[in-house]
Amino acid sequence: MEFSSFCPHCHSFQEFSLEVFSMKSCGSCHADIFVNATDAFKESFHFNQCPHCSSAHLYRQKDFNRKLGISLMAIGIILSFFTYGISLLLVTVIDWWLYKRVGDVGCCYRCQSQFRLSPEVEALPSFDLELYDYYQNLRP
Ligand SMILES: [Zn+2]
Ligand SMILES: [Zn+2]
Repeated sequence: MEFSSFCPHCHSFQEFSLEVFSMKSCGSCHADIFVNATDAFKESFHFNQCPHCSSAHLYRQKDFNRKLGISLMAIGIILSFFTYGISLLLVTVIDWWLYKRVGDVGCCYRCQSQFRLSPEVEALPSFDLELYDYYQNLRP
């Protein structure tokens, strides 16, 4: 599993790749990262809560880089003046292919931690706007 989040103590960006669970510490301030990891998470990366902030709500979405998609489309539009629209067709195909290819990413509504490459991510519920709004309003 791959994990990315901000350190709860010094707020520096942290990324880890884990085969089995181990207590990771922040590369900058050495504070523990998985302070709220449950037994289920330690055993099989099961998300009954966020291992980072202990929030009970996580969601799953396509790990698709929207900026990349938009840039591709822009290039296609510019080039279409010279290629009579063929480039536009081409970027649409590339866009679709990239979208199909990417896996899911698990995210925490509260601390925005991200989890990748774990079968447990596929088991998470899909994005819920109401929950998202709820956590947005909690922020200072
Ligand atoms: Zn830190
Ligand atoms: Zn969290």
